[in-house]
Amino acid sequence: MSNYFTDNEDLRWYVDRGIDWAPLIEATEYGFRAPDAMKDVPEAIAFYREVLESIGELAAKYVGERSAAMDRQHPHVVDGEVVEGEAVRRAFDVFRENELHKMVFPRELGGLNVPLLVYYLSGELIARGDVGAMTHFSFHAGIGMAMLAYSIYEGTTRFDVQGGKIASTRFQAQIEEIVRGDAWGCMVITEPDAGSDMARLRARGTLGEDGQWRISGQKIFITSGHAKYHLVIARTDDAVEGEGLGLDGLSMFLVQAYEDLPDGKRQRFVTIDRVEDKLGHNSSVTAALTYEDTPAQLIGARGEGFKYMLVLMNNARVGVSFEGIGIIEAALRLAREYASGRRSMGKAIAQHEMIADYLDEMETDLLALRALAVASAYAEESAQKLGILQRFEGALSDAEKQRVERELPRVRARSRRFTPLLKYITAEKAVEHARRCVQIHGGVGYTKEYGAEKLLRDALVLPIYEGTSQIQSLMAMKDTLNGIVKDPGGFARRSAQQALRARTAADPLERRVAKVQSLCRGAERSLVARTAIDKLGGVRRLPIGQWKGALTKNWDPKRDFAIAMLHAERLTRMLTDEAICEVLWEQCQRDPARRALLERFLDRCELRDELLFKEITTTGAKMLAKIAAQPEAIAQAAE
Ligand SMILES: Cc1cc2nc3c(=O)[nH]c(=O)nc-3n(C[C@H](O)[C@H](O)[C@H](O)COP(=O)(O)OP(=O)(O)OC[C@H]3O[C@@H](n4cnc5c(N)ncnc54)[C@H](O)[C@@H]3O)c2cc1C
Repeated sequence: MSNYFTDNEDLRWYVDRGIDWAPLIEATEYGFRAPDAMKDVPEAIAFYREVLESIGELAAKYVGERSAAMDRQHPHVVDGEVVEGEAVRRAFDVFRENELHKMVFPRELGGLNVPLLVYYLSGELIARGDVGAMTHFSFHAGIGMAMLAYSIYEGTTRFDVQGGKIASTRFQAQIEEIVRGDAWGCMVITEPDAGSDMARLRARGTLGEDGQWRISGQKIFITSGHAKYHLVIARTDDAVEGEGLGLDGLSMFLVQAYEDLPDGKRQRFVTIDRVEDKLGHNSSVTAALTYEDTPAQLIGARGEGFKYMLVLMNNARVGVSFEGIGIIEAALRLAREYASGRRSMGKAIAQHEMIADYLDEMETDLLALRALAVASAYAEESAQKLGILQRFEGALSDAEKQRVERELPRVRARSRRFTPLLKYITAEKAVEHARRCVQIHGGVGYTKEYGAEKLLRDALVLPIYEGTSQIQSLMAMKDTLNGIVKDPGGFARRSAQQALRARTAADPLERRVAKVQSLCRGAERSLVARTAIDKLGGVRRLPIGQWKGALTKNWDPKRDFAIAMLHAERLTRMLTDEAICEVLWEQCQRDPARRALLERFLDRCELRDELLFKEITTTGAKMLAKIAAQPEAIAQAAE
């Protein structure tokens, strides 16, 4: 019987060797305090392996083998309710019977207390079968865990410090419903006139004299929008259309979309206007919704909506990245199988040089991206769990306290740095390699027979949702350059160390990694200097230690970052290669067998990064001049 976990050597390597389980398990089990905690680290790892094996089997049987049916059976609205296809319904019945929705929740809330990392790896297994099914899957536990995180964040979760568990939490009833598989949730942000630019959101939350919040407005593109529980962002400031709209006036709400009445009828508080007819991703419902004086509960304080959204967004972006990896895994396997069976000009097409090179690059990227994804997920989860552990302060030993204080800033910074890079690159590579899979299939790739075209249609949404590729690039660029402006001395030290290691490190692979890092620092230095030259004319001539004062005066990020915004995607590509090299180098320290993969990746990324470096450091002036001279002409040409 097919099993998406046991047939995957790389995934098994992570569970057996590649993941530093002990600190993560320690944090997940709150230091093994609770009486029902895992006995020790080996017992926990054995359990996670069992979970993954079981999901690997279910994903192959109930998702992968039925993905063509899932693609054909589009969800639609009948009498105001969404009707899903039979194949999706069956898969989710099986998930529920096998209690998959409970895996990641703490035991005291009815869950199995499995780390988020295992949940993400499960997501890859389901996405390999069908990415839309994976998306819907993630809107069960993903939203339940967001409710828990929000409650901890706003201070409405109480901890039993001695017992090492949560005593009570604000949304306990809703979370327990999700744990049982009786409900799921959705994240409701986008509106017809506001997607990437959340400052333009208009749906309103108003507080009635009866003390009840109510929401009115239209939302579109809501994944799993037929959910019972909606996390909704709405405007609670007094700004009116066209003026004063911004991020500060946004708040986060929990909305119950319907109530099932004892007579079997359903009372709805949110209207499902339609389900979108999409290019792909057909097993996932994408709904347009109307809220009309819909009762809502405010989460956190009024005006903190954007902050609360970011709490969920990081997790969601890591989750989408594992979706991308699942697609690439499926594309590689499909392409490889076809290319080794199909013959042309006297040999299997897999033996033709170009196709062999395509397949090799697909595999190298797949393994490299999984390395970055696991490292990002690990950092994000560690940051969350160490943050929770801090709340057990009274019960922590001095050694535990010191570890939390030491580790927390490091994992937070790593997660913040990796997440936009990961989301960007997995989404882009999923599209690139799904397209390669179609190409390797030739004519039949353009038919529905083999499923290659479905992978491409499904993949195309990844660079759009959970923040487009362009928005990820802007985030990565801004964070990087802000870091330099804030601490130019630290940047100069890092640059010097990396340049030195690129020349003198004893290990040739370490030298090559340091060279990639040095190229990145060079590109960043050029962008800061070119930005500054535009602004101040001449900061380049100042010693780097004096940049801070010169750069931070009269700063207008919209205008002053223009050259950096132009090159943000190129810089993001370079920073992604750098992050992957660093993670693979760390893996080499754990297991020398990973050196071959790092070498393969370096062979491909070194030349690419040199080209990107040249583009960043030498081009862009003409484009900026064109935009500055003719902003209206460019807009009109587009019309
Ligand atoms: C299948 C699907 C599921 C979705 N699920 C959800 C969901 O569950 N919840 C939810 O709230 N939303 C959801 N969305 C909406 C999604 O998050 C938005 O479509 C996305 O944020 C982009 O917004 P937009 O479509 O308005 O495009 P726009 O923001 O209008 O952008 C159009 C293009 O311009 C680019 N662009 C915009 N601003 C800049 C800039 N400053 N610099 C450079 N380029 C820029 C964008 O990258 C994009 O390429 C979903 C969308 C789809 C297709």
